[in-house]
Amino acid sequence: MSPDVVVVGAGVAGLTAAVELADRGARVCVLEAKAVLGGRATAFTDPQTGERVDNGQHVLLGCYHDTFRFLKKIGTDGRVRLQTYLDVEFVDRGGVRSRLQCPPLPAPLNLVGGLLQWDALGWADRLSALKMATPIRIAQEGLRAEGKGRNPTRIAASPGETVEQWLINNGQTARLREMLWEPLALAALNQSVREASAPPFARVLGQMFGGDPRDAALGLPACPLDELYAEPAREFIQRHGGEVRIGSPARVVLEGGRVAHVESRGERLQPACVVCAVAWHALPDLFQGETGPVDAVRLAAANTAASPIASVNLWLDRRIMNAAFLGLPGRTMQWVFDKSQMFDGGTSHLTLVASGAEDVMEMTNDALVALALSELCEALPDARAARVQRVSVVRERRATFSLAPGQPARPGTRTGIKGLVLAGDWIDTGLPATIEGAALSGRLAAEAIS
Ligand SMILES: Cc1cc2nc3c(=O)[nH]c(=O)nc-3n(C[C@H](O)[C@H](O)[C@H](O)COP(=O)(O)OP(=O)(O)OC[C@H]3O[C@@H](n4cnc5c(N)ncnc54)[C@H](O)[C@@H]3O)c2cc1C
Repeated sequence: MSPDVVVVGAGVAGLTAAVELADRGARVCVLEAKAVLGGRATAFTDPQTGERVDNGQHVLLGCYHDTFRFLKKIGTDGRVRLQTYLDVEFVDRGGVRSRLQCPPLPAPLNLVGGLLQWDALGWADRLSALKMATPIRIAQEGLRAEGKGRNPTRIAASPGETVEQWLINNGQTARLREMLWEPLALAALNQSVREASAPPFARVLGQMFGGDPRDAALGLPACPLDELYAEPAREFIQRHGGEVRIGSPARVVLEGGRVAHVESRGERLQPACVVCAVAWHALPDLFQGETGPVDAVRLAAANTAASPIASVNLWLDRRIMNAAFLGLPGRTMQWVFDKSQMFDGGTSHLTLVASGAEDVMEMTNDALVALALSELCEALPDARAARVQRVSVVRERRATFSLAPGQPARPGTRTGIKGLVLAGDWIDTGLPATIEGAALSGRLAAEAIS
């Protein structure tokens, strides 16, 4: 018997859509091409240590409301350690350590209070930060207008403007850009501030500093990513009468303006509805037959560039960090995470992250590890005495889609084909390529066919 809905792709977007639909009583079948669930947010077993290692550190924000809604539904929201307010320690390029703590005041007073006390900044930097109040407020107005189904009357940033131009145009000093806005933008957009366009960043800031002070807090998974959501989502779907198939690449065959069937491993499924939740670069080949109604989307997807992330995992013979993570602004590896302090046991490595890592993609593993170690030792002198027991490098060349001005427009949830909807972080949610964008797109897809 064919399921009610076939969901193609078991990343955050596909699993969110499937869980939402299963919860509403639909019989769902999820088809995942790979042998593991989770797509770009997944984990694997390190062959030497046996530890579960994420394909890259994923940081959540308090304003990831759709993500937390999804995790709550599958019973794992407690597996994210969410700060009560934004609290980040940095070591600047001069080796000086400082801490940004945004007090639990209503936004944006929390940000103002945090910046006033942050001793990494001088008075000129702090005063320049106040100039961001207006664009952030405009971004919030835009979000509120959208929430009421209206078009925003003002825009916080123009699509042709890069994040760097936007920050400079809003009077942000070089020090504040390097210490705060660039690390935040790189983490949120995975692209250099010199390349990424400003509106998605303005939107993220509008959400972070818009409402509850906790919206700006960082959340770190306390377990590997597959345990955080992929396996619990699979169990949820199965408990609700659905099915999740791995190693099942799918093709969606179109005919006469409708889905004729979905083909996977020689089987033909004929559901009432299909959710395509594959990454943008997999969309062009997903459809077969009379693809006319989705050709514009396929073309846009084919012309969308990617932005990479490289992670260096280090197993040292001792603990060198006194916090779970540390910002390393102005360096190639912008953040370091101590997984042993983040997870409830079972792991002992550090992960250093290079986002927007075009340049490092061409480096050899040895050169990349040497760079990571030298930046770590320079920021944390205790690391110099530590012995490196094992290293591993993970390169995600197509970690996220590019947000550079001039990239093709992102599609909406609905397509020109009845019963066929799209999900995935590339869907035009206004957000950058994030877990939250993916979770939101999954919910929207489920709502569109319910
Ligand atoms: C290293 C790294 C670090 C990141 N850090 C962060 C972070 O800190 N915070 C954050 O919010 N986001 C982060 N992201 C981004 C986040 O992981 C993605 O935005 C999100 O996981 C995208 O989910 P998705 O479901 O849209 O797509 P995907 O995860 O790409 O899922 C699509 C799935 O479809 C499957 N598929 C493709 N073609 C077919 C087919 N024909 N048939 C069946 N299945 C198919 C794929 O195998 C894949 O499993 C990071 C990403 C990476 C790679």
